[in-house]
Amino acid sequence: MNPQQLELKIGWLYPTLMSTYGDRGNVICLQQRAQWRGISVQIIPLDKQSPATQLHQVDIFMGGGAQDRQQEIVMRDLQGMKAEILSEKIEQGTPGVFTCGAPQLLGHYYEPALGQRIEGLGLFDLVSKHPGDNARRCIGNVVFELTASPLAQELQAMLGTVPTVIGFENHGGRTYLGKVQPLGRVVKGYGNNGEDSTEGAFYLNAIATYSHGPLLPKNPFLADWLIQKALTQKYQTKISLSPLDDAIATKARRAMFKRLALKVT
Ligand code: GLN
Repeated sequence: MNPQQLELKIGWLYPTLMSTYGDRGNVICLQQRAQWRGISVQIIPLDKQSPATQLHQVDIFMGGGAQDRQQEIVMRDLQGMKAEILSEKIEQGTPGVFTCGAPQLLGHYYEPALGQRIEGLGLFDLVSKHPGDNARRCIGNVVFELTASPLAQELQAMLGTVPTVIGFENHGGRTYLGKVQPLGRVVKGYGNNGEDSTEGAFYLNAIATYSHGPLLPKNPFLADWLIQKALTQKYQTKISLSPLDDAIATKARRAMFKRLALKVT
């Protein structure tokens, strides 16, 4: 298909309440990488005042991090029809990238440092708990190998290699996975809980991660995987993306790996 005929709608969950640590950069990265290829993009902010039916239009979801208090406000809004449509879309394979506070809300529950347990959507088989304000926050650069299937295999086919992911984490909550597969295996940093070396989760075409960065500009191959998935899903035909010049991103990644004394690509 001619890229000029393609359109991508990015649904940005609660941009005013959930966009800490630069997660907005994930939206900008998806938008730019699509537009550079001639694909038109529409960004749909999905805020408290947005009608639930808007969720139907979304081709890729982006949910960023938040403080515990904002997460509680969001979860009070993300009920009923909104929760149903979001769950239905993810179950149908709509891709998404959900960072830090967002996946905590897509799991079974999140227990904040203070106050009541916040019930989540239960889409990801995981639970998150904050061990209390006295516990150390998990802060710093995080590096992980992608292990999730078929994501890793699809990246291998797209790029001839499975690049290592680099990001930055800042969370108090610890996530414990049930049957859902992890997104990756931690090489440096804490990941889900600092105990079991798992990082994030991967369910159908949805990526959950503790990695801010923001994630996508630092790891543009993930942005391309999301765009390709979304278009293939939407137009029901295999769509391949033209390559972009990622020399600057590659240089930035190399500089970070060097700083962290890691020999990775
Ligand atoms: N409030 C959550 C925590 O501290 C999420 C933080 C975030 O999204 N960065 O675990």
